[in-house]
This record gives sequence, C-alpha cells and structure tokens, in this order.
Amino acid sequence: MKKLSILLFLCVCSGSILAQRQKKVVFVIADGIAADALEQTNPPHFRQLVDKGCYLRAYQGGEVGGYSETPTISAPGYTNVITGVWYNKHNVPDNDIKAPNYHYPTIFRLLKDAFPEKKIAVFSSWLDNRTKLIGEGLAETGQIKMDEAFDGLELDTVHYPHDKGRQFMLAIDQAVTAKAAESIKERAPDLSWVYLEYTDDMGHMYGDSPQYTRAIEKVDEEIGQILSAINEREQKFNEDWLLIVTTDHGRTEKDGKGHGGQSFRQRSAWLLSNRPLDNAYSKLLYPASVDIVPTIARFMNIPVREATGRELDGVPLLGSVAVAQPQVHRLKEHLDVSWLPLKQDGELKVWLSTTNNKKTGGEDHYQLMGTFPLNRKHALISIKDMPSSFYKVVLETPENTVNRWVMEKD
Ligand SMILES: [Zn+2]
Repeated sequence: MKKLSILLFLCVCSGSILAQRQKKVVFVIADGIAADALEQTNPPHFRQLVDKGCYLRAYQGGEVGGYSETPTISAPGYTNVITGVWYNKHNVPDNDIKAPNYHYPTIFRLLKDAFPEKKIAVFSSWLDNRTKLIGEGLAETGQIKMDEAFDGLELDTVHYPHDKGRQFMLAIDQAVTAKAAESIKERAPDLSWVYLEYTDDMGHMYGDSPQYTRAIEKVDEEIGQILSAINEREQKFNEDWLLIVTTDHGRTEKDGKGHGGQSFRQRSAWLLSNRPLDNAYSKLLYPASVDIVPTIARFMNIPVREATGRELDGVPLLGSVAVAQPQVHRLKEHLDVSWLPLKQDGELKVWLSTTNNKKTGGEDHYQLMGTFPLNRKHALISIKDMPSSFYKVVLETPENTVNRWVMEKD
C-alpha cells in the first residue's frame, strides 16, 4: 500500500512538472544574407541543422506588385518579422522609421498583454530596434518595457572606435551574442530578440566575396553560442526552447552589394531553427518572414485577440493549419474568393469588413458571409448589399486564419 502511494505520488509529480514545462523563444535576425549565400557558405552549425531538417527557404518583401509589397530594406524587414504584418500595415518603409503604425502589435506586446509576468529581452547591434521598432516606453505601445536590453554599442566610439573596414561591427555582434548567451543561461528570458549586423556591412562593402563569406561564418559561430546556451538550459531545466534565425533581406543578383528592390535574390530569405518547422504549410509552400509571429505565438500558447489575429499576414509553421494563399477578385456584384486547403475535411468561414478602422486603432465590424467546405477551394460572395471601394476578407478555420484586402480598380 505504501509503495503504491509513493508510486502514485511520483506519477502525479512528474505529470505536473511536465505540464509546467516552460516555453521559451529566441529569434535572431542576421542582416542581409541571401539564402544562396548561406547555403554556399554551408558553415558547421548551419549544416547540422540542415541535416536535422531545420532549414527552410523563405521570402521577404510582401507580394511583388501587390498592396503588401515591402521594400527589401533592413528596418521594414525586421518589422515584418516582429509584427507578422507587411508594410501596408506596419508603415515602416525605410530605415528612418518615421511613423510606425503601432496599432499592429509586436510579438513582445502580444506576449506581455497576455502574460505580464513573462520576461522579454533584446540584444542588438542597433539601438533603434528597441526604441523605435519595439517602441519601448512610448504611449502608443502601452509603454512597453524590456526586462533586459543590451544595445547601443554602435554609439560607444570609445570602446568600439569606428574603423573604415567596419571591424568594430563584428566586435559589437560578438559582444551582443555573448550577452545573449549569458542571459539565456543565467536568466532565461521568455522571449528574446538577437540582432546581428556585420554580414550586411561586408555585403555592402565587398558584395559576394571572401569577406562576406567570412562574415556568414562568424554568424554561424554566434548561432553556435546561442544554441549551446539553449541546450544547457534544456538539460538543466524543464524548458522547451525554440530558436528561429532569419534575415531581413537578400542581396542583388549582380554583385551582392545592394538590396531594396523586388528581385528574387533581394527577396530571398530563410528560416533556421533548432527543431523542425514541418507542418502541412511549410512542407508545401514557400514560407515568409511574417510567418514567424504566428509560429512563436503558437509555440508559446499566447492567446491572440481576434481583431489582432485577423490582421496577421502569416501562417504558423508549427501545428495544425487548414488554409493558406487567400485570393480575392472583385467582380461587379461579387467577390470571387479562393484559397488553398491544407487538409481535406473541415469548414471555412468567410468574414467581410468594409472598414479599416484597425489602422487608426479602432475596431472593424466583420459580417459572416457564409460557411463553406474547406476542400471546395472557392466561394462567390455577393456584395450587392455591401457596396464599398474597400473590403477586408478574412478566411477563418479552427486551425488558422488568413486575410486579404480588395481595393476598387478602374
Ligand atoms: Zn539589412
């Protein structure tokens, strides 16, 4: 009897420990590395993760020629990653970052709004990432406060004198990585952003070159340090860590020196992780930088408000998904709506709003236009009674939700 109760006690204990396993996330943006450049460099940590099935090509830049087209420039690229929406929503078209639309919250706000006690951190070779893109302390971001920040070293010209060859940026990236690794080991913030710049500097100065290749190898070393910190945590504590490494844009085809445009290589990005991101969507389709926010939200079980979720432009790369690639064509009295089903059974709801109040912080009122079998792949929606020059269409399934705008064309 006594033995049995001890056994029972052990079972209950291990069960509750498992249930309490903490989900932690680190995402890294390494600046300006086109997928082909990373693949050709093929450094050791990258290679190991590729062998484990933890590498995906992805794209930046929104839809070429569409309403979501986003310049392949750094700050817009980071903002795609941290908000899960494209430029038409986040309003960061360049590195001046004059008027970000904070009504589209960052992943840090999604986490803090749901779980105020969770810890957020940024380790960055560029101060603006915290002060402008995350918007720390601003009224518009609910005065979000990072629990840990290590950045602004680029402004410290005493310790990091700015040499013409920009080797100081490598030193800063290495200091930023060392701090991030130490923080992960010692304090384990729930959600961390590590930003590394040196690769883009070498790309701009030398283009596709031994210097650029070496910079990619340095990033790989830095990823190795973060991986080893994560592995140490997972061995010592009941924690599940997700590492996602990505880039903000690719480089020009011609010589690798530039970026900003919409060519294939400038839009070329990738996702490297410590665990396979291999659901029906990532296996079948070409993921995008905006998929990272829904992926992190799902991994960390962050409840996302319906109005926010309906605006997210990405699809989770983990877990069950049902719909992707929404398309809407405006006809005279109908919207011709189509989608790609990612499973055969189930239903899909079509919601319609004629307003875009979200842009200014208001609420949009969506009307349910119908429920359709998912595998039908399309629906004709009458707009006779809802005349408008603008529609937001939301396709909702229990697994995931996608959206599409329609503007009047002449
Ligand atoms: Zn960049």
